[in-house]
Amino acid sequence: MSSRRKFIRNVSLTAASAALIPSITKADKKRRVEQLLAEGGIVLSTWKHGLNANVKAVEILNNGGRPVDAAQQGVMVVESDPTNTSVGLAGYPDRDGHVTLDACLMDEFGNAGSVTFLEGIEHPVSVARLVMDKTPHVMLSGEGALQFALLNGFTQRKGLSPQAKQAYAEWLKTSSYKPTGEAKDHDTIGLILRDSRGNFSGACTTSGLAFKMHGRVGDSPIIGAGLFVDSEVGTATATGVGEAVIKICGSHLIVELMRLGISPQRACEEAVKRISIKQKNYKDIQVGFLALNKAGEVGAFSIQPGFQYALAKEGKNDLMDAASLLTVGKN
Ligand code: ASP
Repeated sequence: MSSRRKFIRNVSLTAASAALIPSITKADKKRRVEQLLAEGGIVLSTWKHGLNANVKAVEILNNGGRPVDAAQQGVMVVESDPTNTSVGLAGYPDRDGHVTLDACLMDEFGNAGSVTFLEGIEHPVSVARLVMDKTPHVMLSGEGALQFALLNGFTQRKGLSPQAKQAYAEWLKTSSYKPTGEAKDHDTIGLILRDSRGNFSGACTTSGLAFKMHGRVGDSPIIGAGLFVDSEVGTATATGVGEAVIKICGSHLIVELMRLGISPQRACEEAVKRISIKQKNYKDIQVGFLALNKAGEVGAFSIQPGFQYALAKEGKNDLMDAASLLTVGKN
């Protein structure tokens, strides 16, 4: 007898979100939409590219996969997207022309894996998964992370995508570095989910801020900053200027606020408020948080307007606008 409940009941992908699942056949699309049929599970992820990541995550959950498999494989879709300039190998480089990747994930038992400053590997989140599953450590960095990946069968592919090459050449004309609040500058994917049994997992992966200093690592691979999961409470993830998120341990802060009974929405608002108190230049930067609790309530809040997230729930996979602290942003 199948005890697995179907994830989302009513099939009603909106026209907008269906249109955002490119290059798959009609039959394929129909099959994937049908896989959004189970009930009880919720997947949410940062930015528009989250729509495709959510579909993959739901597919894994509906096929009986573990929450952590769903989170990992969901974000892998975005890591492989050759048009994405802030996640994966097509990301914009640092100021020395290197694409350096950061990723982490946490499973339903609180296990965690992370890689930072990794070059030339298509799926840093999968290396993070191996760090979690096969080593006594949580985080591997740079050359060591690369050696570990190569030893485990990953192949290295270096170089810039045509789009990144062009953007880098343009940037070199001024070489000025200033992270902004503009949405186009931020598209880390953080994906968090709850399965139909109430177990949580999440994954977060990025090429980091464009034209950052060589060696810079942001919040995305840092457990408690870019991502935190505690299946007793819920989960949270972040996008935006990582330095501001690290300084308040953003995702951990949100989960701990939820542990006290605060709703995911209020917890995200509180984290943004904390940044606005601690970070003098908060009006010039963007940070967005997503959160999900045991009751299936969702939270989303950012500094600037323009932060969007993809929410797969109750038969729909929709792009949502998060509320923000500032009403007139830099966008
Ligand atoms: N959070 C990422 C970082 O600081 C960047 C982003 O989301 O835009 O590396």
